[in-house]
Amino acid sequence: MKTLNDFNFEDKKALIRVDFNVPLNDDFQVTDATRIISAKPTIIKILEDGGSCVLMSHLGRPKGVQDEFSLRHIIPKIEDILGVEVKFASNCVGSEAEEKANALQPGEILLLENLRFHEEEKDGNKDFAEQLAKLGDIYVNDAFGTAHRAHASTTIVAEFFPDNKCFGSLLAQEIESIKKVLEDGEKPVLAVLGGAKVSSKITVIENILDKVDHLIIGGGMTFTFIKAQGGKIGDSICEDDKMDLALDILKQAKAKGVTIHLPVDVIAADDFSNTANTQTCDVTQIPDGWQGLDAGPKSREIFDDVVNKCKTILWNGPLGVFELETFSKGTIALGDSIANATKNGAFSLVGGGDSVAAVKQFGFENKVSYVSTGGGAMLESLEGKTLPGIAAILS
Ligand code: AMP
Repeated sequence: MKTLNDFNFEDKKALIRVDFNVPLNDDFQVTDATRIISAKPTIIKILEDGGSCVLMSHLGRPKGVQDEFSLRHIIPKIEDILGVEVKFASNCVGSEAEEKANALQPGEILLLENLRFHEEEKDGNKDFAEQLAKLGDIYVNDAFGTAHRAHASTTIVAEFFPDNKCFGSLLAQEIESIKKVLEDGEKPVLAVLGGAKVSSKITVIENILDKVDHLIIGGGMTFTFIKAQGGKIGDSICEDDKMDLALDILKQAKAKGVTIHLPVDVIAADDFSNTANTQTCDVTQIPDGWQGLDAGPKSREIFDDVVNKCKTILWNGPLGVFELETFSKGTIALGDSIANATKNGAFSLVGGGDSVAAVKQFGFENKVSYVSTGGGAMLESLEGKTLPGIAAILS
């Protein structure tokens, strides 16, 4: 696996795919700069080597050229974070980009306009990728968030750098973290899978049954498993067409020696709202008209025990409707348990969509070992797929 350390960037131009797809407010100010901050180590290492950086990214989902999606808006934030002036090419390919890239001196940075202003980017167009490739001597992919897409800048462009391509430090860290959990995890290994639906996590569950010793299943997924085993789930969310699959997963887990932990009690509500009436009830005895929206106190205790006896922990998906304060306690308790296990030496990886949002919202970001920057990319990795952006560097 080639990383930045395999190259000396002195007098070289690095063409870096970063993920600067950051949220902006109505005044085009960056409201969460995590992705820019995450790319900093790669950029600084190259500049310190005496190289220069050509940065390419997408922003949002533009239809053709739309000024509201211009990467120009985020230049002040990038300059602020990197402490270096950022030059700009108003088209990511073509003569202006080529002239500005050619004129780049060691220590300088050029940002290219939004790649997705060209539909060739998402099409993975080879000619477009070749034009991008003209802008650098070494291709560096540091965008985990788009590594599951075979786009021109994430995958196809690598073909034009057969010997001069590598992972940036963020992407390398993401790969290492997933490996640390799925391949080299110190036992016992635990995965906590929450979230809304069994259907969106099924491939993940099937893949990780071969890798873990314990599996906590929580969130809305719980009720498909409980109903399939004959429990009464009231009006809780359930995928009836996945009940056979749920039973099959329980069977497979048993055969593979994986202990599955489902909630034993839940906070049930008579309405999907913060002001609903609530009651704690046995997960198999939820009255009609009530729905389970969070893990109950006994479940939290059981999960705490499991988490604290494990040495490697993967967390994907909340244990309840954490967006509503009334139903956030199970997710917060799990975060506390994982933070505690991490403090005591466990390796913990949080990845995939809403669990990352929950971890940030409740202040656990610095209390776990690693928070992944990729939602879809993380899920596909957990499904056991080799991401095209990663394969393109390895080939
Ligand atoms: P996912 O994107 O699959 O990880 O699902 C995350 C969503 O699942 C969050 O928006 C949660 O509010 C939701 N969720 C978690 N637990 C439940 C539940 N018991 N009932 C309904 N939705 C839930």
